[in-house]
Amino acid sequence: MILVTGGAGFIGANFVLDWLAAHAEPVVNLDKLTYAGNLENLAAVQRDSRHVFVHGDIGDSQLVERLLREHRPRAVINFAAESHVDRSIHAPGTFIETNVVGTFRLLEAVRAHWSGLQGAERDAFRFLHVSTDEVYGSLAAKDPAFSEQHRYEPNSPYSASKAASDHLVRAYHHTYGLPVVTTNCSNNYGPYHFPEKLIPLMIVNALAGKPLPVYGDGQQIRDWLYVGDHCSAIRRVLDAGRLGETYNIGGWNEKPNIEIVHTVCALLDELRPKPGGGGYREQITFVKDRPGHDRRYAIDARKIERELGWKPAETFETGIRKTVQWYLANGEWVQRVQSGAYREWISTQYAQA
Ligand code: NAD
Repeated sequence: MILVTGGAGFIGANFVLDWLAAHAEPVVNLDKLTYAGNLENLAAVQRDSRHVFVHGDIGDSQLVERLLREHRPRAVINFAAESHVDRSIHAPGTFIETNVVGTFRLLEAVRAHWSGLQGAERDAFRFLHVSTDEVYGSLAAKDPAFSEQHRYEPNSPYSASKAASDHLVRAYHHTYGLPVVTTNCSNNYGPYHFPEKLIPLMIVNALAGKPLPVYGDGQQIRDWLYVGDHCSAIRRVLDAGRLGETYNIGGWNEKPNIEIVHTVCALLDELRPKPGGGGYREQITFVKDRPGHDRRYAIDARKIERELGWKPAETFETGIRKTVQWYLANGEWVQRVQSGAYREWISTQYAQA
């Protein structure tokens, strides 16, 4: 049994689906179901007895302690977070509550549980904290990519809150010996990505005939990884990562945002040509840049490749094609997210904690 937090969100849901497809081992999935948590992402495992969904908060120590006591997971994998940079600029408070205080409370509950374990169960136990490359700040054009030695220089309330959580996780290893490992991954894309983020937003707006808003000059560089490859890296780190270590995860796919938008438009032109003719690129609109927008992120993934033998399965070209195809095939999912109808699933599909 493993305990996953935030498993109804974009990456967590992909992780749970991939896990249950590949392993016999069950998953307890603790998620608060904020606007970003969507149980429809988990529809494929809704009737799978190996998936136990619990609606709750990582900051609810009593609940987390009860789940640890009852299910005795061999690992806790912490995806739960507020994750959207723009939202963190407008309303940073929830980012501090979940990403900092929530992670602290989760760590405390896990520490209390782990302290009571003995023998092989204690030796096998792991706390895997899922984090982001944004904690490292921004790179200039010629700087080398972020390695695990790069100093933390977070620039947004989101990245600062994730940086704080990473430091807490590190300190719990250093101070209490808690068996932790942290991963810092580059930008993910793929199925079930909430349509406020760049790639799904472009697909969804393009199909709806709406403007494709690109911040500033569109030359901000991000390093992109297909979500399934992020999930395979996390499984690898869980199996073989060294305790107390951090592993950067990335696919060596640095691209300016405008190139991403052009690629999405070209794929849509090919797969779903505009009924009236013309290309989707015509819908691109440059908008005022986000305050404090980081210029470039790039991940040096050599440590995980060398130590753990991990490599992504997708190139950017194969991953982005799969992603566009998924959104074209799952228009209903998009519509239900946009209308807010997906929230009804909370009351109808799963028991509350
Ligand atoms: P997401 O916003 O899609 O999902 C977050 C999930 O956490 C949601 O299901 C939400 O309901 C849940 N949640 C929020 N607060 C909670 C709380 N207090 N208790 C329990 N559940 C709570 O985010 P995502 O993109 O899937 O990211 C998952 C993790 O991966 C985050 O920690 C994020 O920092 C990290 N990460 C994301 C990316 C990316 O490109 N999306 C890249 C690197 C790392």
